[in-house]
Amino acid sequence: MTDHPHPPAALFPTRAERARLDDFLTRELPRANARIAQGSVVPTFDLASFKQELAGFDFCTPRPLDELLSWSIAQLEHGIVHMTHPRYFGLFNPAPTFPAECADRIVGALNPQLATWTTAPAAVEIEAHVLKAVALRAGLPANAVGHCTSGGSEANSTALLCALTRANPRFAIEGTRAFAGTPVFYISADSHLAWLKIAHQTGIGRAAAHLVPTDGRGQMDADALLSALSEDRARGCVPVMIVATAGTTNAGMIDPLERCAAIAREAALWYHVDAAWGGALIASDRRRGALAGMEHADSITIDAHKWFATTMGCGMFMTRHANILSSVFHVSTTFMPSNIVHLDPYVTTAQWSRRFLGLRLFLSLACAGWQGYGDHVERSIALMAALKEELGARGWTIANDSQLAVLCIVPPPGYPDVRTLVNRVIASGHAWMAAAKLEGRDVVRICLTHGEATPQDIFELVGALSAAM
Ligand SMILES: *Cc1c(COP(=O)(O)O)cnc(C)c1O
Repeated sequence: MTDHPHPPAALFPTRAERARLDDFLTRELPRANARIAQGSVVPTFDLASFKQELAGFDFCTPRPLDELLSWSIAQLEHGIVHMTHPRYFGLFNPAPTFPAECADRIVGALNPQLATWTTAPAAVEIEAHVLKAVALRAGLPANAVGHCTSGGSEANSTALLCALTRANPRFAIEGTRAFAGTPVFYISADSHLAWLKIAHQTGIGRAAAHLVPTDGRGQMDADALLSALSEDRARGCVPVMIVATAGTTNAGMIDPLERCAAIAREAALWYHVDAAWGGALIASDRRRGALAGMEHADSITIDAHKWFATTMGCGMFMTRHANILSSVFHVSTTFMPSNIVHLDPYVTTAQWSRRFLGLRLFLSLACAGWQGYGDHVERSIALMAALKEELGARGWTIANDSQLAVLCIVPPPGYPDVRTLVNRVIASGHAWMAAAKLEGRDVVRICLTHGEATPQDIFELVGALSAAM
């Protein structure tokens, strides 16, 4: 053997050095999060000097990792909107569960490849097991399957590909040319508009996403859906899928799931339920009834990284049609170690190389149980109910009637317009919330995303809103 140079120590330090740096992170990260919870929700750093510092990284002169780790934590501590701050009442980005963080650490260290079952049988089985449990809990039958995705968008995209392929198997080879008319699918006007990007990506085009009007309360108008279907058929389009949103991103409204299911069945269309954040209601025995009708779905999206509070990004796609998934994603190559139908993730999902995401929900669910997640969800709803009562008493108007932990509110007279008000609260650093529109009306959108927020945080939120007058 010739003498080989040592591996670069900066990339592959000794075990002792790794242990030292790991200990440093283990100590420092909780400290940073404790400081974050006491400080501003929004970035406080000076962007110009940060950019200058960043420009100094020319990657020619190596720097010690110690220093870089401290630098990274400090930049994130002062340079992001904090999802781990208990008064982040924002879009559904959670403070992650601790078991999910542990999962990331394990997965980062062992780096399993989940493209094939053969390379990571334990990991593939764990993910399939927890996804099946979620699918069953959501009401899908025992033969349902599921896998983790990068997020709700990938899961929804998978649903559309399944619907197109089932509607016309020749779509796989010929694309949209296989259809006698333009393929179309139905979403509510208040659905998550990643659907437009998805329509673009699948090649059927953005115009194929038929936005069905809402009923004045932010839910799909089922009669308008029926009219849209018959009008589209009359002009030669080919409907392929109805999507019901179970918990709109904006206002937490649930489309009429039973009626959408009946219409889809009648029209022989794929029925997809996008429960990206509302889907966590399945954990609560008291609350899951709100999702009645979801069990008829051909496929379901639930984001583990929203109300199940895993680290990002961790979506889930579940379907009762394992064979359709295979027909969408199958491919064979000579270099892969196996090609097992229904089992190898690279032939049943959109990704190829695949991170072990499922461990995040597996560990969280295994140590908290459905009961623990049920308590988590119910607690968020109770805190929002308390806020609703408090603001109602102060003359605010509640514009949505959601069963989830989100309020869309309109300030009483004397307040500035919604955008100004929200900007003032955010600038104060006391809380983060969004300005949104519901049924054409400007609203302040407040969503409880942090599992450890307390009544004191709600009290401070009310104070921050009042101070923005
Ligand atoms: C968040 C959300 C999505 C998009 O999911 P990502 O995980 O952000 O890709 C889709 N639909 C609904 C209803 C959502 O709330």
